[in-house]
Amino acid sequence: MTASLGLYGLGVMGSALALNILEKGFALHVGNRTASKVPPFVQAAGPLGARATGHDSLAAMAAAMAPPRAIILMVDAGPAVDTAIEALLPHLSPGDTIVDCGNADFHDTRRRAAALEAQGLIFMGVGVSGGEEGARHGPAIMAGGRPESWAHLAPVFEAIAATYEGQPCAALMGPDGAGHFVKTVHNGIEYADMQLIAEVYGLLRHGQGKAPAEIGALFGQWDQGRLKSYLVEITAAVLSAVDPATGLPLVDVILDQAGQKGTGRWTVVEALALGQSASAIEAAVGARGWSAEKATREVGEQILGTERKPLELSETELEGALLAGRIVAYAQGFRILQAASETYGWGLDQARVSETWRAGCIIRSALLGDIAAAFRGEMPHGQLILAPAFAADLRASLPSLRRVVAAAVLGGHPVPALSAALAFADTFSQGRGTTDLIQGQRDYFGRHGFVRLDTGAVHQHGPWAVTIVDKVADPKAQ
Ligand code: NAP
Repeated sequence: MTASLGLYGLGVMGSALALNILEKGFALHVGNRTASKVPPFVQAAGPLGARATGHDSLAAMAAAMAPPRAIILMVDAGPAVDTAIEALLPHLSPGDTIVDCGNADFHDTRRRAAALEAQGLIFMGVGVSGGEEGARHGPAIMAGGRPESWAHLAPVFEAIAATYEGQPCAALMGPDGAGHFVKTVHNGIEYADMQLIAEVYGLLRHGQGKAPAEIGALFGQWDQGRLKSYLVEITAAVLSAVDPATGLPLVDVILDQAGQKGTGRWTVVEALALGQSASAIEAAVGARGWSAEKATREVGEQILGTERKPLELSETELEGALLAGRIVAYAQGFRILQAASETYGWGLDQARVSETWRAGCIIRSALLGDIAAAFRGEMPHGQLILAPAFAADLRASLPSLRRVVAAAVLGGHPVPALSAALAFADTFSQGRGTTDLIQGQRDYFGRHGFVRLDTGAVHQHGPWAVTIVDKVADPKAQ
């Protein structure tokens, strides 16, 4: 790394990332919009602060840095990134690099990359996963940009990234928006996995009357098996926690309204735009939206009063259902990545993506090594659920998912993500579906035509194919 390095945006993620960079021995220029936060950051960094130089503006930071400069932005996604770029531009020289490490919309990243490259500058969009803890001690890093730009910055990102069996979880995913897109889909899968876990928790809590600590212990047990993952691990910790103020289980003092910042929604929107349906992810995004309508749900409970019935489900069935749901969530995420890669010409290496997610990020799980192996092996139609290892997993776990969804539905317990996952698996295990009727309907009202199964002839019409033009020409035509 020959460039001088800067980081702008000392919020939760920026501070943690800056400390991580300093700790790995790099000198770092730091700045923040609210400049008064800079000196306390440098001071709080302790001995690491000796390698940090604080600045009260982007202009001052750029002026103090020798070209070629590499400036990491860790600010709110959206207009804040454009504002920072605008402020930096007059102070940069050709060959300097701006690296957006926030959760940007990949369309913005593509736009910014094109605009800055036209001015002789380099722009990289880099997804950073793992929350504050990851940023501080080793995140998963998904970069987008030119290979030569990545080669330049890789020593820094590989040094600060999480490692899995000695390999850094930092890689160039592809050009322009590829890194931010992979990060977006990562977050989409995260939404789905969290929702699936919450639904299973709900069945155990409301359908079987188990106490949070008991459910936490069960998740702790599952974390030793095929479900081993960061999210299952922290579920065990959250459910086991006690509120110091009341002595109640901590979950019982938490308002049941989930926040969201947009990446889950973007995954769903992009999936649809790419002709895909990330139904388990969509269910999770939708469930967070519904959760926000707390008052409506409370009134709904009075008016609709659905009776919740106790559930007779074994722990093994619930574990199997969660595994099947998780596999489908990953499969839908990887299918979106494949579709985007084809559309934008990114050449994404799906095996490499899953390897990058094996440590440091929120969706790290025992499945990811197997997913990487699956992408390097036989995989009919590039569909993860059809790769031999995952097909075997699903053959074993789908009966549990089916029984859990059926019991939940009959018992009045909402399981939107589990049921979406089941519908996906059932659809992709049915060679002949029901779209023959839809094609017939489309031809009936819109003369869209259909393909005949017997002859393969295209643009065929049903016997109803008498057009309005025909009817005008011959009013007796039927
Ligand atoms: P944060 O703690 O709220 O910090 C936001 C930072 O952005 C602050 O430094 C803030 O400066 C700066 N900022 C906001 N608006 C600005 C503007 N118009 N111009 C210049 N600077 C502006 O947020 P965060 O959690 O660190 O998130 C930063 C980025 O990382 C976001 O894109 C987020 O989506 C992404 N991310 C977050 C997580 C996470 O777990 N938190 C994980 C991965 C990625 P002031 O101090 O002046 O307000």
